[in-house]
Amino acid sequence: MKKVKTNFIYILLISIFFLLFIFIIFIPSPVKPLLGRESLTIVSENGSLLRVYLNNEDSWCLKSALKVPQKLKEAVILYEDKYFYYHFGINPISLIRALIVNIKAKEIKLGGSTISMQVARISGRRSRNISSKIVEIFQALKLELFHSKEYILKLYLDHAPYGGNIYGYRTASLRYFGKEPEYLSWAEAATLAVLPNSPSLISPLVSQDKLKNKRNELLLRLYEAKKLSYDNYQMALIEDVPMKNLSFQVVAPQFCDTVVKNKEKYKLNSSSKSIITTTLDLQIQQLVEGIIRNHTEIIHGSGIANISALVVDAQTGDIKAWIGSQDFSDDKNQGQINGVLAPRSTGSILKPFLYALAIDRGLLLPDTLLADIPTTFGSYCPSNASGTFSGLVTARDALINSLNVPAVRVLSSFGVDEFYQFLKRAGLNHLFRSSSEYGLPLVLGGAEATLYEIAQLYYGLVNKGYFSQLNYLLKDSISNSKTNDLKTNADKKPKLNATQNNKLSSSTKNVDKNQYIPEKEEKVRIKKGKKLISEGSCYLILDILKDLKRPEADQLWEFFNSSKPVAWKTGTSYGYKDAWAVGVNPSWIVAVWSGNFDGTPNVLLSGGKVSGPIMLDIINALPAKSSDRWFKYPDNALVNLEVCSKTGYAVSSNCPEKNYVDAPVGMLPLQPCPYHKIIYTTLDGKYEVCSNCWKPGEYEKKYVLAWSPEISQYIRDTGLIEDQRPIHNPLCQGFSSTVNMQIIYPGNGLTIVVPKDLNGKYQKVIFQAAHQSRNTYIFWYLNGLYLGKTAGNNNMAFLPPEGENILTIVDQQTGKSISSKFKVIYSSRK
Ligand SMILES: [Zn+2]
Ligand SMILES: [Zn+2]
Repeated sequence: MKKVKTNFIYILLISIFFLLFIFIIFIPSPVKPLLGRESLTIVSENGSLLRVYLNNEDSWCLKSALKVPQKLKEAVILYEDKYFYYHFGINPISLIRALIVNIKAKEIKLGGSTISMQVARISGRRSRNISSKIVEIFQALKLELFHSKEYILKLYLDHAPYGGNIYGYRTASLRYFGKEPEYLSWAEAATLAVLPNSPSLISPLVSQDKLKNKRNELLLRLYEAKKLSYDNYQMALIEDVPMKNLSFQVVAPQFCDTVVKNKEKYKLNSSSKSIITTTLDLQIQQLVEGIIRNHTEIIHGSGIANISALVVDAQTGDIKAWIGSQDFSDDKNQGQINGVLAPRSTGSILKPFLYALAIDRGLLLPDTLLADIPTTFGSYCPSNASGTFSGLVTARDALINSLNVPAVRVLSSFGVDEFYQFLKRAGLNHLFRSSSEYGLPLVLGGAEATLYEIAQLYYGLVNKGYFSQLNYLLKDSISNSKTNDLKTNADKKPKLNATQNNKLSSSTKNVDKNQYIPEKEEKVRIKKGKKLISEGSCYLILDILKDLKRPEADQLWEFFNSSKPVAWKTGTSYGYKDAWAVGVNPSWIVAVWSGNFDGTPNVLLSGGKVSGPIMLDIINALPAKSSDRWFKYPDNALVNLEVCSKTGYAVSSNCPEKNYVDAPVGMLPLQPCPYHKIIYTTLDGKYEVCSNCWKPGEYEKKYVLAWSPEISQYIRDTGLIEDQRPIHNPLCQGFSSTVNMQIIYPGNGLTIVVPKDLNGKYQKVIFQAAHQSRNTYIFWYLNGLYLGKTAGNNNMAFLPPEGENILTIVDQQTGKSISSKFKVIYSSRK
């Protein structure tokens, strides 16, 4: 009988435990609703708050990424739940005591709740009655079953109410004391321990005396429990309780908004769901903001409203500062616009990439001579910003001086579509039209790009020709790790056209070589992104851009230039709407845009004069990240190449002198020198002779530079390199093979719209031609009608009739003629 009874008790107990267990398993956990209430918080790379967003209940509930500070922990446990570390979620003694007190008082006076039960209570937000208490008890048991004490305490403190729409101890610490919880004093910690108990009654904004009393009671208990010394206790009593609610500081607001907007793109790991750790560096951000503030005053004085800037770590591609506008609170000047992501005309800022690609293609090297002469491409006639031409110029000088004509000529040889494809692959996402619609002006600012995209392009140049996205999320906060990233990039074989394929196959060797670079970090960095330009070509271009001088000669700048080298490029868009400047060194990439967000032009807008000084101020103020003053000379990526010492092209059998220059490994063969010719002259060198007119034994062989007539004309004017070719023997009967002259304007097939002048009269058209020889006459004919003759500068002004016309010029020396057909339309506008 006794045995049966014991068995029955066992069964009953087991059943009760089983039921309890089932209950605990199936009761909803209090954790999830709490996590869902956390405010989205954007922090800098070292955890400094940048921007906090209200949660969908319009509350602030910041999670802290760190452990609960010791003072707060002691205070809270002593105040709320002395036996927190000893019970299993409920404290039966205090529950029974609370029950007795409450029954006697006929209302709920004591809660008897443990911290674990408090978590359940704030999670469920149930009214205070017996049934909700029972639910809270089971939830507390469940919590204890699955989580550590530290987790439960943190969960409580992260979500406890602190009055108004303030939840969580970090929020309270920041809003009431203006500091992170790690820096709380004993008095402040005690305040934060007593507040959640009845935040509506003792809120600092409601009753400071009540709050102070409660706090001091707790401080006394802490002192009695020997948690703080007598001196500290006395000091703590003197401290005031907070009187107001501080607002959060907002750093880099447009950057934070961008991060939030793109949040879904990344697989953030669970700890980053409410706290997103970015790459931004708070100190650098504030440093740059200060510099921008100083410049804002200056540019506002010139009637220019807006500045945007981006600072990128040149070694990692991490964004360190993001200035969306001169001032977020500047409503008058649309300060809330995110200028970093606004597409704007690129001006000349893309030119370095064209030159870099042209080097890899074998079209030029830095010392190669390029023609800078009036040139028409169909109906397109680019001109330089200065309005003048230099005849011939090295690629280096053409880039340093940002000459338009050589750039357009290089683009014409390189191919608009190939340059366009490069820009797309390198990350320009605002090329909405086809390459043929952009045409040759593409390299002069015909297309639009954002400051972000421009900084990304220059990062590719610094990153040895590997083009990739800039980073703005810290690697640790993203689930798919860097290795994953690398793998996808390596797997993704870019589609290639024939020439690029060729180029890449030769530079594959280059990549293989890089694998033997001993520094592991170097290897990781080097392999990231799409390889679009050779390392050698990147180095040569950076080396050219290092020589860029400040537009106004400035002695201080010369000093800067030698002590802190910066490779930089500026750009001003057509119509004075955008001023760009990008500067790079081994540590940093700094990109600056100035202008008006509303697109209002301003003649004072100039990349060199407005954005250049801002960019230089920033890059000079930034701390060096790399020990290198300048980019390391890439031994493995450059080789010596024999070039013509006069023209910088590959040496041909006609070139008398040669030089050795750096050329990228893997570049296509450089074009041979087109200008050196072997000619025969009379012994006095006065005339060129040919087999039709030479006298046996009375001629000699000479290597001379023979420019095309159009180039000759401009070189005569600049005196760069004299034309060495003498005129052909005037007595020669058979000579007719060489064309010594050219029609520069109008080009064949051109349509000319003749404008009216201020008096309403149609303006004459200036025809232009060039002759190799200064003293030889050119005879001009329009539709067979003789117009006149010229020599030296061959210009002829005339008003041609409407419709089709034929211009013919005749060479006095040879009698040869050339023609150009063009169409004339009379403009009806004044
Ligand atoms: Zn040559
Ligand atoms: Zn001859």
